[in-house]
Amino acid sequence: MDFRALVRKHKDLIVQTRRELHRIPEPAYTEKKTSVYIVDFLKKEGLAVKCGIAKYGVVGLLDTKKSGKTVMLRADMDALAVDEETNLPFASTHKGAMHACGHDAHMAMVLGSARILNEIKKHLKGTIKFVFQPAEEGPGGAKPMIEEGIMDNPKVDYCFGCHVWPGIPEGYIGVRDGPVMAAMDRFDLRIIGKGGHGAMPHLCVDALEVGTQVVNALQRITSRHMNPLQPTVVSVCSFHAGTTFNVIPAEAKLSGTTRTFDRNVWLSWPQRLERIINGICKAMDATYELDFKQGYPPTVNHAGMAQVVRDCASLVVGKDRVIEPEPTMGGEDMSFFLEKTEGCFFFLGVGKQGAAPIHNPKFDFNEDILLKGVETYCRIIWELLG
Ligand SMILES: [Zn+2]
Ligand SMILES: [Zn+2]
Repeated sequence: MDFRALVRKHKDLIVQTRRELHRIPEPAYTEKKTSVYIVDFLKKEGLAVKCGIAKYGVVGLLDTKKSGKTVMLRADMDALAVDEETNLPFASTHKGAMHACGHDAHMAMVLGSARILNEIKKHLKGTIKFVFQPAEEGPGGAKPMIEEGIMDNPKVDYCFGCHVWPGIPEGYIGVRDGPVMAAMDRFDLRIIGKGGHGAMPHLCVDALEVGTQVVNALQRITSRHMNPLQPTVVSVCSFHAGTTFNVIPAEAKLSGTTRTFDRNVWLSWPQRLERIINGICKAMDATYELDFKQGYPPTVNHAGMAQVVRDCASLVVGKDRVIEPEPTMGGEDMSFFLEKTEGCFFFLGVGKQGAAPIHNPKFDFNEDILLKGVETYCRIIWELLG
């Protein structure tokens, strides 16, 4: 099958789809217009479409009516609360929102693949599920979509997704076995002491000072409790206490995030944090409220499916341009799909000198990479269902 030619034939459609979606960015759980756009596209293809899953999630089903495996291609739909500064002719028309993480590209590539795979349907067997999920940037749309049964009837055998990635050079594709992205969580901590005069600390419980001890002690988790061969991060990213120079604050508020590639470490975070916070607060006569919100599990690729992607991507960009990227401590809720079934999450290089990173108001990329993404997706499907 000449996928290169098929992708070229549909280049205008793929680019136009990306631009139309780029114009209407909608942050997590507000993806209404985006959802309508996707439903229209898939219905025009004559696919069976389900929408309103986990609020704005959409699933398109391409049933070849021939028995075979079920493969899922996944795109995320949400934008970020960022004011766009690209000056592109197709820039955001929604003030305060922008597709600064490339999710417009992800949707356009899955839709473009739906177009092409539908066209060559008679040469395929099995079923393809095109999955569009809301709220990847948090609180996460993958988990509620799974809970609503999107991976059943027919049961998904393999799943694939990708992210445009400025850390990899344009025209390269990054594929890796095992953990590729970290588990991520959020914690919020309120330390309660007793306020008073800055000159009379013995009459107070200084919440600020207790907070500094907590920040320092939390750093010992990574440096003293964890196996040094096991990467972890504990970051306290905000700390608010006090109002002026001579009043000891009664309260301190801290929040931060924990990261790991290991599922058992991930599940152990709440107890590890609480033990330290509880010990310090007790020793200093303070009390506390800890709210630990478990986020996404680690994103772990299955070796066999990573090899499928590697082989297919080699046909698209050449073997020497398929690289093994370093894992990143960033998180992804593709992880929930990969916990349910075998699959692979890979990275499409968009990096070049001087280009803005993702989540930046100037983020943009060369649209030629959309074709590389679509061709890779189509070849993966061909490999498994051709
Ligand atoms: Zn993002
Ligand atoms: Zn993203």
